[in-house]
Amino acid sequence: QKEDSTTNGFKGHDMLAPFTAGWQSTDVHPLVIEKSEGSYVYDVNGKKYLDSLAGLWCTALGGSEPRLVAAATAQLNTLPFYHSFWNRTTKPSLDLAKELLEMFTASKMAKVFFTNSGSEANDTQVKLVWYYNNALGRPNKKKFIARQKSYHGSTLIAASLSGLPALHQKFDLPAPFVLHTDCPHYWRYAHPGETEEEYSTRLANNLEDLILKEGPETIAAFIAEPVIGAGGVIPPPATYFEKVQAVVKKYDILFIADEVICAFGRLGTMFGCDKYSIKPDLVSFAKALSSAYMPIGAILVSPEVSEVIHSQSNTLGSFSHGFTYSGHPVSCAVAIEALKIYKERNIVEQVNKIAPKFQDGVKAFSDSPIIGEIRGTGLILGTEFADNKSPNEPFPPEWGKFLTFLSYRIGAYFGAQCEKHGMLVRVSGDNIMMSPPFIMSPEEVDELISKYGKALKATEERVKE
Ligand code: PLP
Repeated sequence: QKEDSTTNGFKGHDMLAPFTAGWQSTDVHPLVIEKSEGSYVYDVNGKKYLDSLAGLWCTALGGSEPRLVAAATAQLNTLPFYHSFWNRTTKPSLDLAKELLEMFTASKMAKVFFTNSGSEANDTQVKLVWYYNNALGRPNKKKFIARQKSYHGSTLIAASLSGLPALHQKFDLPAPFVLHTDCPHYWRYAHPGETEEEYSTRLANNLEDLILKEGPETIAAFIAEPVIGAGGVIPPPATYFEKVQAVVKKYDILFIADEVICAFGRLGTMFGCDKYSIKPDLVSFAKALSSAYMPIGAILVSPEVSEVIHSQSNTLGSFSHGFTYSGHPVSCAVAIEALKIYKERNIVEQVNKIAPKFQDGVKAFSDSPIIGEIRGTGLILGTEFADNKSPNEPFPPEWGKFLTFLSYRIGAYFGAQCEKHGMLVRVSGDNIMMSPPFIMSPEEVDELISKYGKALKATEERVKE
C-alpha cells in the first residue's frame, strides 16, 4: 500500500544512476527488454513500451527492419569476419567508406577510419590529431577544447572530452590536455536582455580568450556535437557555430564534429553539420550509421589531414592504430543497407513530416509550472524541470527522498510515470530526453504526446503534495 501511495502505483525496477551500463547483477531489478517491433519494445513480462529514445538515440529504423536482418544474415553466410589491417580489407568496408564520403558534403572528406563505437571514434580523433601535429613538427599543439555538458563517450579520452562532471569525478579525469569552454545553453546561461546573437558572440569571445590564455600554438582541436545530446538536448543559439568556427579557423585549430547522435536525419537534415553550416575537418559517426543493429563507428578525415598522415608512412611508419573489428564486414553490410534505406525512403523528408507534430505537441506542455524549458529540433527533444520555471532554481536533489526509491529526483519520477504508462524516456537529473525512431507514425507521435502528458500531470501532482 505504502509503495502505491508514494509511487503512484509504479512497482518497477530501480531507477539507478544513468551510468550503470555494463554492470549486470541480480541485486537490482532492471527492466529486461526482450523484443522489439517498429517503434515499440517489450519487456519479459510482455509489457509494451513506446521507445521514445530509439534505444539509446540510435535505432533510427525502429526495432524490426527485416532488410537490416537480411543484410547481416547474408554477410554472415558469406564472410562473417575478416580484418582491415596491413592493406587488407573487405568489400563491405570499402563500399561503406565510399558511400560515407559521397553522402557527407558539408566539407570535403578524403578518408574513413572504422571503429566499433562513438567513444572509439572520438579516441581515434585525438590520436589522429596528435599524429598529424607531430608529423607537421609541432609537438606542442596537443590540447583539445570541448564544451561543458557535452558527451563524447566513456573511454578515458572520450570521457575526458565530455563535459559532464559525473564522468570525471572519482575517475581522475579529465586528462590534462582537455579544456572545457562554455555550454551554449541560452535559456540557462544568457544574461538578462542578451539576444541569442549577442550570447553567441560572448561565447565565441570566451573561446578566443581561452585560446589566447593557453597559447594558440598549444591548441590542436575543438570538438562539438551539433546539438548537445546526453547533456540535456541543447541546440545551439543563433549564429553560434558561425562565430565559433571563425575563432577556431583564425588559430589553425581543427574542428571535429561529433555527429554520433545528429547524423543521418535526426535534426531534419542528413547531417547536423548541414543544419548549422559546420565545415569540419574531422567527423565522428556511430549509432544510426547501422541503425544500431550492429556496433560500428566511423570517422571522416579531410584531405589536408589525411595527406599529412599518409605522407608519414615511409618515415615514422603508418598510423599504427586500429581494432580487430574495425570495418567488421557484418557491421559494414548492415550500415550500407541502413544508408540505402535512408536514401530510398527519403528519411530526411520523413523526419520533417513528423517532426513538427512531435516538437509542437510536446512543447505545448511548456506552460507547466514545473517545466523550465522544452527544447529541441527535428526528432530530438529535451525537457528540463525547474522550480518556479527558473533556470536558477532546479528542484533540490533531495526532492525525492520521501519516495521509496531513494535515488528518485523529479526526472526519475517523471521517467517512472512514463514507464508505468508504457513509454521509455531518457532521464538524467532534472532532464528528460527523447529521440524517437525516424519511422514513427503520426499516430505513434500522438501516443507519445499523450503519455508524456499523463506522466507530467502525475509529476505536477506529486510536486504539489
Ligand atoms: N558522442 C556522442 C555525441 C554520443 O551521444 C555518444 C553516445 O551516446 C558517444 C559519442 C559515444 O558513443 P558510444 O556509446 O557508441 O561509445
